[in-house]
Amino acid sequence: MRDVNVFLKGFRRFQHHYFDRNPELFDRLFAEGQRPRALMVACCDSRCDPGVLTDSEPGDMFVVRNVANLVPPHIQATAYAGTTSAIAFAICNLGVEHVIVMGHARCGGIRALMENRPPACDEELLIAKWLEIAADARLRVLKELPGKSQETQARACEQASILKSLENLMSFPWISRRVNEGKLALHGWYFDMENGALLQYDSDAGEFRATDMHIEGCADHSGESLQPQRLIEPGNLS
Ligand SMILES: [Zn+2]
Repeated sequence: MRDVNVFLKGFRRFQHHYFDRNPELFDRLFAEGQRPRALMVACCDSRCDPGVLTDSEPGDMFVVRNVANLVPPHIQATAYAGTTSAIAFAICNLGVEHVIVMGHARCGGIRALMENRPPACDEELLIAKWLEIAADARLRVLKELPGKSQETQARACEQASILKSLENLMSFPWISRRVNEGKLALHGWYFDMENGALLQYDSDAGEFRATDMHIEGCADHSGESLQPQRLIEPGNLS
């Protein structure tokens, strides 16, 4: 069994190199509480840490993570609403102005969804039930990309499931009202791990596109050997 001391050592480094060097930040966060500007719904996957990927600071981003970064629809969001209660808290209590659903390449949850194997045990049933949220995304991929490789279909489903979650977000009246009033914006992001790129969903174009933001002093990976993948129209997503 691999030990966890590596994380304790990591926390010690955080204390010395981050906490001790940012007293104003932590004094303010402690005294005034949090006012994150965005909520991110991300996958549990250990390779897709939102704080690391966005280089954000404590207090910047409210994060909820689950298998395959899914948001259930309003009608199914009552019992043990781990994800949706976090979403409600971020929007209604903290007043975040952006919700980002961030999917990623090589998502194990989406691969399991595409394989669609009958659950063989209790633990597989738990995962399969959760992944039902994105069942429509799987069916749309099979319909629109029949005969394509598993790799292509999985990638398409990773992106289609982001759109499904955005659509589900709009099924909550307190979300759609804020979106329609211009107080809340929804975003679909896709972390292309292979290329180290971030794609954003462009609702006008109906596809995920490499970010074209150029930040001074940063390497620009946008567009390098990466073709925007035209996928599925976002249904009734506004
Ligand atoms: Zn994942």
